[in-house]
Amino acid sequence: MPVELQRGSLVMQGAPLWFDAKRRTSLAFVSHAHTDHIAPHECVIATRETLALMAHRLGPLKATLPLAYGEAAQVHGLRVELFPAGHVLGAAQVRVTRSDGHRVAYTGDLSLGEALTAARAEIVSCDTLLLEATFGHPRYRFPPQEQVYDQVARWSRNQLAAGVQPILLAYSLGKSQEAIRQLWARGLPVTAHPAIHAVAEVYEGLGVPVGARLFDGHFRPGEVGLFPPSRRGDLQGAGVPVATAVLTGWALEPWGARRSGADVAFPVSDHADFPSLVAYARATGAREVITVYGFAEDLAEGLRREGLFARAATEAVQMELPLLL
Ligand SMILES: [Zn+2]
Repeated sequence: MPVELQRGSLVMQGAPLWFDAKRRTSLAFVSHAHTDHIAPHECVIATRETLALMAHRLGPLKATLPLAYGEAAQVHGLRVELFPAGHVLGAAQVRVTRSDGHRVAYTGDLSLGEALTAARAEIVSCDTLLLEATFGHPRYRFPPQEQVYDQVARWSRNQLAAGVQPILLAYSLGKSQEAIRQLWARGLPVTAHPAIHAVAEVYEGLGVPVGARLFDGHFRPGEVGLFPPSRRGDLQGAGVPVATAVLTGWALEPWGARRSGADVAFPVSDHADFPSLVAYARATGAREVITVYGFAEDLAEGLRREGLFARAATEAVQMELPLLL
C-alpha cells in the first residue's frame, strides 16, 4: 500500500511527498502547470518548464527542486525520477522508488501521441501505476491528431474563402501553443488572444518556438484567430463575421461544441484516449493500477476486463479503506 488519498489528493505513505495536490503542501511533485494541478506549495518538484509556467500563473515560487527528464534525486529516502508525459510543455510523469525497491509511477495528465511543443511520453516501468482517466471511458477513441489538425486547417480555409473570420477556441496553456504550431505547419498564420500569447512567450523563453501574432483587435487577411473559450467576449469590436470552432476531446460528445458556445468542435486532445490508456497500463508492467481523475471507475473496470489488477482512487473508497492504496 505505497500511496494514500488524503483530502482528495494523493500522497506517498510515510513521506510528505504529494502528487499534484490541490492545496498547499510542504512538498509536492507537480506534473504540469494546468490550474487544476498547481498550488503554492512550500517546495515543488517539477521540470524547469513546469516551474516557469507555474510562476507565470502563480507568481514567484518558494523552494523548488527542478529535475530534467531522466534525472533522479533522493527525497526523504525516496528515489524520484521524471519522464515526459506528452501533455503540454514540461509535463512529466514521476517514478518514486522506495528503499525496498517498490516503484510507484504517477502519470499526471498523459498524452501518448507525437506533438510539436511537448516531448513524447515515455513508458515508465513500475510496480504501482497511478494512471489518469480523464477520457477513461471506452467511448473515447480519438482519431489521429494529424488528421484532426488537417480538418481544422481545411475548415479555417473554407471560412476565410467565404469572407468569414475563423476563430479557434482552446485552453491558453498547451493546446493553444500546439495548435499555433500545427496551423503554421499547414501554412496558416495565427493571431492569439493576449492570455495565449503570454504563455507562448514563456514557451519561447524556454526555447520552444510558437510564432503567433498578438491579437490587437484586428485580423489581418488570411489569419486564424485563437482565443481561450472563456475570453471569446473579447472578440467584440473586431467588426467582422466570425465562425468558431472549439478544440477539445469533448468534441466526441454530442454537446461538445455547444458547451463552449462554438459552431463546431474538433477532437483535438492533449489526453490519451481509452485504448491508449489501457495499452499504456499494460506496457508499464504494473502489478496494480490505481486510476485517478475523470472516468476513473470506468477505466479501472476496463483494465480489469483486460486482466489487469485495477481500481479507482475515490473519496468513497477512502472512507471504506483508510489506507486506500
Ligand atoms: Zn492538464
